[in-house]
Amino acid sequence: MAFKLFKNGDELYDQGNELIKRGEFSKARNVLQKSIDKEGGVNDVAAVQVALIDMMGNLDQPERYANLLQKLKALSATEFDFGLTHVARDPLITETELTYRKIGLMNQRSKKTDLKAVSSNLQVLAQDFQEKIGNDHLIIQEIFNNDTTVTGLTEFFNLMAVSYEALSDAVVWENPPQAAEYEQIAMGYRQQNGQSGSANDARVKAYSNTCRCWLCNRTASGEGIHFYSAPADISPALANESSDNGTNKNRAQDNKHIYICRACYSAVSNRADEISYGYHQKAMAEMRAMEARLQAEINSLQRQISMIRVN
Ligand SMILES: [Zn+2]
Repeated sequence: MAFKLFKNGDELYDQGNELIKRGEFSKARNVLQKSIDKEGGVNDVAAVQVALIDMMGNLDQPERYANLLQKLKALSATEFDFGLTHVARDPLITETELTYRKIGLMNQRSKKTDLKAVSSNLQVLAQDFQEKIGNDHLIIQEIFNNDTTVTGLTEFFNLMAVSYEALSDAVVWENPPQAAEYEQIAMGYRQQNGQSGSANDARVKAYSNTCRCWLCNRTASGEGIHFYSAPADISPALANESSDNGTNKNRAQDNKHIYICRACYSAVSNRADEISYGYHQKAMAEMRAMEARLQAEINSLQRQISMIRVN
């Protein structure tokens, strides 16, 4: 035991790396932290290893990448071991910088604000992944997910797809056919990345779908955005009078749905809300009146009971 107490920083470092090899990360972290404390923080490989251990389960948190980056930049050694993985410093610095940018942009993209700027920044980042990492796989994915299929190139395809999906979201309100074109491009990138792109395909179909409103006869493109399919009772005579194909369609082929533009749909549903709110208010007023009547009867009964007791 005594000799363990006097382990120097290097011995602690070796012990820490052995623990990493065995997958005992929290024990490894304690030992490596002791090594850092002994060496006064000079043993920078241990500091990088601790920063890497702290990323486990936190691969979506930008501050963990910022911390790793800071430790990597302070590292004098050009390569080091993390358990069984031999890591070159500079490629990991590049990957960490790019991934840090990626998380920031993906967060902005999910907030759906300033989508055009986010989209062009995503394209710049995609090209950086392609140029700076290329066919090499991502080290952090190898270390934590045992996955060597994610490369600079697959990230390029993935980020390009996300960028065009962001552009589609940015324009779909004003210009659904343009949004459909962007979704088509995004689908191409997803397919090059080995994905089906079926979600893009569904949006291409919806955004490029055009109808004629059953109520006002206006043309609208973009199902689910600028027009809706609403359940309706369409008699055979009405079915004969209407159309179910091409851009003139005003009902679905199942004869159970009519197409309604957003303006008509919102007017009808707003009016329906007003009517049901009116019924709600009326029902509440009647309940309150009934409650008052019952309370009056209870009060009267209570008075009679107390009279009986007094007598
Ligand atoms: Zn309409």
